[in-house]
Amino acid sequence: MTELNDSHARNPGSLPSERADCPAWDGPVPGKIRGALEHNVAMSGYTSWRAGGPADRLYKPADLDDLCAYLKTLPADEPVHFIGLGSNLLVRDGGLRGTVIFMHGALKEIRFEERRMQGRASGAESRFGVVYAEAGVASPKVARFAANNDLTGAEFLAGIPGTVGGALAMNAGCYGHETWSYVSQVLTVDHQGNTHKRSPREFQVAYRHVDTTGQRKEWFVAAWFLFPRGDGEAGRAEIKRLLERRIASQPLDLPNAGSVFRNPPGDYAARLIESCGMKGVRIGDAQVSEKHANFIVNLGQATATDIETLIEMVQEKVKAKGGVELIREVRIIGERVAPALPGTGTTP
Ligand SMILES: Cc1cc2nc3c(=O)[nH]c(=O)nc-3n(C[C@H](O)[C@H](O)[C@H](O)COP(=O)(O)OP(=O)(O)OC[C@H]3O[C@@H](n4cnc5c(N)ncnc54)[C@H](O)[C@@H]3O)c2cc1C
Repeated sequence: MTELNDSHARNPGSLPSERADCPAWDGPVPGKIRGALEHNVAMSGYTSWRAGGPADRLYKPADLDDLCAYLKTLPADEPVHFIGLGSNLLVRDGGLRGTVIFMHGALKEIRFEERRMQGRASGAESRFGVVYAEAGVASPKVARFAANNDLTGAEFLAGIPGTVGGALAMNAGCYGHETWSYVSQVLTVDHQGNTHKRSPREFQVAYRHVDTTGQRKEWFVAAWFLFPRGDGEAGRAEIKRLLERRIASQPLDLPNAGSVFRNPPGDYAARLIESCGMKGVRIGDAQVSEKHANFIVNLGQATATDIETLIEMVQEKVKAKGGVELIREVRIIGERVAPALPGTGTTP
């Protein structure tokens, strides 16, 4: 792994990056890293809602070693945000301070591993297969890869348009399956660029929610999945069936971020939203989908502010009608834009 000079030494007075000071830290010495570093990058190009303000810096690593090398160059106080396909993410219009690590297609290795399952009963290794997938691999690719290797269980991932990293961070799931049910180990990286092998026991995993135990800040760079052996052809047929089911029920022709809210216990967020008469309600170009009430679609020029305001309106209406507090599934990050001064059309 390449060791780089600490860029802070080159720029000792640098502060945590703030809009006014940007760029306080301008990235590592050119030529020392192999990935692509860009500045002031519109996050609307990196999120499935096609909305959101600029990130100070966006780094697309060449591979895992390069990611670790890049992280080693960062000042300790540089904010870091990992993003997969941005399919569960709203970046506010004021944008993101610090560095976005864009993982999709960057850490892209996927392979079938023949190995013994530690701690499993004798014969278990013949009933399961291990798939190693890096965090930037698209989840649908894992579904197809597993089926093509006569493994079952991964079919549900076919319709989740994110990356392995995003699926791990969200415990993505559908149709009765969840990502972490199949995880045997993960590989994480910390802010200093050191990797760690971790077992599922080290995480608190819940419905669409994953917490690292303790205070450490780490991100997922790869996972080992354990899938039962089975009939690959049946798996491919199941993938086709699940995708057809989605096309019939979801507004896939417009930018969206999937289900905006978690389903409350024993109920469906979509049913509650529809019962408040919210289907089709718009703020700017953000609209509660006519096809699926738990989706908010971008009709063209929706800003992140439009989308967030509509999310809050839906929460208020549902709470007012039946007392249920809808909890967001989508993550919202970044800075708000200051409101325009009355009569000036400008921001303070
Ligand atoms: C049409 C549509 C259908 C969807 N259907 C489903 C569904 O059926 N089930 C479901 O669960 N979700 C669904 N989603 C939501 C979304 O696709 C999933 O949550 C997906 O797993 C997010 O992956 P991502 O790579 O896009 O993550 P992002 O949106 O990029 O990131 C989501 C969160 O994960 C974090 N993150 C991303 N990568 C990493 C990493 N490597 N390490 C640590 N943290 C990371 C981000 O910081 C962010 O907080 C749907 C979305 C769309 C647009």
